[in-house]
Amino acid sequence: MLIPPYGGRLMNLMLDGEERRQELQRAADLPSVILAPRAMCDLELMATGAFSPLDRFMGRADYERVLDEMRLADGTVYPVPVTLPLADPPEVGKDIVLRNPNNVRMAILRVEEVFEWDRDREARQVCRTNDGRHPLVAEMASWGRYYASGPLKVLNLPSHQDFPALRKNAAEVRAELEELGNTKVVAFHTRTPIHRIHEEITRKAVEQVGANLLVQPVVGMTRPGDMDHYTRVRTYLILKDKYYDPRRTVLSLLPLAVRHAGPREAVWHAIIRRNFGATHLIVGRDYASAGVDSKGRLFFGSLEAQELMRALGPHVGVTMVPYEELVYLPDEDRYEVEGQVPPGRRTLSISGTDVRNDYLAAGKPLPNWFTRPEVAEVLARAFPPRHQQGFCIWFTGLPSSGKSTIAEVLAVLLMERGRQVTLLDGDVVRTHLSKGLGFSQQDRDTNILRIGFVASEIARHHGAVISSAVSPYRSTRDQVRAMVGEDRFIVVYVNTPIEICEQRDVKGYYGRARAGEIHGFTGVDDPYEAPANPEITLTTTDCTPEQNAQRIVGHMREKGFLPA
Ligand code: ADP
Repeated sequence: MLIPPYGGRLMNLMLDGEERRQELQRAADLPSVILAPRAMCDLELMATGAFSPLDRFMGRADYERVLDEMRLADGTVYPVPVTLPLADPPEVGKDIVLRNPNNVRMAILRVEEVFEWDRDREARQVCRTNDGRHPLVAEMASWGRYYASGPLKVLNLPSHQDFPALRKNAAEVRAELEELGNTKVVAFHTRTPIHRIHEEITRKAVEQVGANLLVQPVVGMTRPGDMDHYTRVRTYLILKDKYYDPRRTVLSLLPLAVRHAGPREAVWHAIIRRNFGATHLIVGRDYASAGVDSKGRLFFGSLEAQELMRALGPHVGVTMVPYEELVYLPDEDRYEVEGQVPPGRRTLSISGTDVRNDYLAAGKPLPNWFTRPEVAEVLARAFPPRHQQGFCIWFTGLPSSGKSTIAEVLAVLLMERGRQVTLLDGDVVRTHLSKGLGFSQQDRDTNILRIGFVASEIARHHGAVISSAVSPYRSTRDQVRAMVGEDRFIVVYVNTPIEICEQRDVKGYYGRARAGEIHGFTGVDDPYEAPANPEITLTTTDCTPEQNAQRIVGHMREKGFLPA
């Protein structure tokens, strides 16, 4: 009764019964690779048909045409590459086993094809930029150089302990929608809590189309810095239980790793939702946007996703329901499309940024016209005011530029103001966290990423962390920014001229590097890539460490991270 899946049938790559038992056993002896979180998400959705007609990570012919024309090799519209990056090329013609990070055997891949890919080209085609501020572009830097493709036999799916009742695959969602009995289904995609305005948009859309509603939030990999899905799903459950009509609504969690690819992403989401039974997809402005680049410009035009959906929607069999921003008319207690407000009426609106900055971060309750009170309560509990939230102050600069000196003063000033502080000094962490790492480019990157990982954990748990490490490479810093989260990552660039650093030469390394005793030393025979757009730039020839630390404290207070 529902719309058929894209390409006619739902792919199902799962083995079961005796065949699965045998293949599991055989897999124990095969060469294995560990899947990254993104590949885990892709595998799960591919295995259960959400990416139909895809039945494998893309081979070269599909991949190339997807990049250039948003079509698979056979001409089917498919806008986003789904690939398996590997650091080492596996042998063609052999089987390999794909494992999850806990070494569980997930799938056997018969390697039919291995090819090298070009990061810059894929970034430009899919994300339309190679700016590392784009979260997928930043992540690509850590992907292996090869893509592998071939038939998959899936042995296990990722297991999800959270919200099991909402973890439904495409076939299960289809069954539920069938039961509600309407061939028209409007899908609503989201990666944020559902506020009154979104609720209103979904309600308007289903009325306009005469459809049922599939609320399908993404819980795989979303934008770095997005609200955690545990909190979000608790808010969705409130809406499902109290505010949406149960005879017309299905709520399902989608373990999708999004690409932040704007227009291409919108069409991809339409294909995925069609596989779940949807005939319509709600698409607003800045759909699947990736925020702004290092120059503060949007990666995609606000209406581009709607334009591409309008053009390609008919090819993928999904109709777009476009929506305009709604505003609230307090005097009439109703919502209206921004451009259609009768003249002279009072209007209210709160942006996502305002929610975080002006309400949650400030400890101010969200008004009822904006958010259902039960939802507001969940959010307030999950997001303490900003001065109790975590952050990471990331120093970068040449050796001996003054990072550690300023960082130590800053740590004391922050503690004096009531924050718990962890100082991660690039040299000090080498005695434990990064013990054994050398100074090759790769080892130095590993050192920075380890610091970044620890920093992101501390910040996530509401701690204050200061990192002081040369961190000379831009792409590595971008990766750390993505790990910690844009809104709590503060880069401090200590911009001391190299001649001064060399005169200071705290550890005597410049001397040894000039004498050729050590190699690959930043500033001497290895590059230092200055940050393009740091939150703070310090000079140390005209300011004391104390003055500079005070300046950072001022910035942090202004941003609300310290009590006024
Ligand atoms: P880094 O951590 O960047 O390698 P350090 O902080 O260990 O650098 O060393 C910087 C050296 O420069 C210290 O000996 C410090 O006393 C000296 N110095 C002189 N003036 C300043 C200043 N204004 N800010 C920071 N350090 C300064």
